[in-house]
Amino acid sequence: MKSACRRALFLTLFISVQLATAVQAYGPLGHEIVGGIADERLANTPTAMKIRTLLDGLTLEKAAVIADEIKGWDKKGVDDPKAFHYSAHQKIDKQLRDFWRANQPTHDLNPAAPSHHWFHYTDVPVVPVQKYRDGTAGRSKWDIVHMISYCVDVLRGRVPEQNERKITKPVALILLAHYVADIHQPLHVGAEYFDAQGRPADPDKETSALGDEGGNTFTLELSDEPPRRRGIRKKNFHAFWDYDAVNALFPEVPSTLRKSELQAQIEPFKKELVHEMAMQEPKNWRMPSNIDIHNYAELWADEILPVAHEANSSMFVRNKKKVVWSRRVKRMKNCSPTKSVIARGQRILSEKNCTKPDGASPIC
Ligand SMILES: [Zn+2]
Repeated sequence: MKSACRRALFLTLFISVQLATAVQAYGPLGHEIVGGIADERLANTPTAMKIRTLLDGLTLEKAAVIADEIKGWDKKGVDDPKAFHYSAHQKIDKQLRDFWRANQPTHDLNPAAPSHHWFHYTDVPVVPVQKYRDGTAGRSKWDIVHMISYCVDVLRGRVPEQNERKITKPVALILLAHYVADIHQPLHVGAEYFDAQGRPADPDKETSALGDEGGNTFTLELSDEPPRRRGIRKKNFHAFWDYDAVNALFPEVPSTLRKSELQAQIEPFKKELVHEMAMQEPKNWRMPSNIDIHNYAELWADEILPVAHEANSSMFVRNKKKVVWSRRVKRMKNCSPTKSVIARGQRILSEKNCTKPDGASPIC
């Protein structure tokens, strides 16, 4: 079985020629789970009251997906008559529109203002293994590590609400609810870089090296799925971690279901998972008491980088194609739900042809 599994463990990755691939979002379900855990942990506390006031009654579960939802304004602009509104929360709607205008997506390589898309990730090289602070390639003052700290500072009153990024306290909270989940997705933090010949390269030494944009420039081919051809959607390596790794926590549902039916089926499982995680906070989720909240994001990035390395390190070149051969994931020590989500992602990669994913049961 073991060797049969191994033979079946081939996953093919092609370097995509599409340089303009948009950075995919960590799936809404993953964000809702993270927001939902926070809602439950904070319930009936003074902090929950403050959040309720700032978010005009919105839950963190709902707020957690807004940073992705507003990407829906990108194509035609926020002032398009058909652009959606958060009509039930007009004050927040206005602030989100101001935020979007101040941080519009751009194709300009040196724009005067950052794009709000940049705030969702950082591209720290995973080869050689390093920490966020160890180099400069892939990092920027507008990356997720800096933006989480920025939002924390707005909420603490250390950065004024009238700032150039138009991040008011409600917007800071909305963004934080989202970015805290993104930074726990390994491919939102780590990236692999390649030279002109497609060989892995260290961008701090080879400045012409191109990054894989957190796996967005790879197409993932699973060996037990039909080859990609017209009409069959390509699987993006980054999106696999955004969606499949989270979906694997839940029982499989027929792909023919409508979106609303699918949501209705998943909802009770999601609630159960949120409740479980909120009731039993894993010990390693808590930051040491001597660490200032301003520095949490950097520590979170450092914590996830080895996992990003692991996700990328199983790739090799075969017939000029990127091939990934993923190893069985070891049972994780000090397993936390976040890590179990990650582990499940790796487990699907490694067991795709061997065993059927076993529904909602945790890996540890
Ligand atoms: Zn995001």
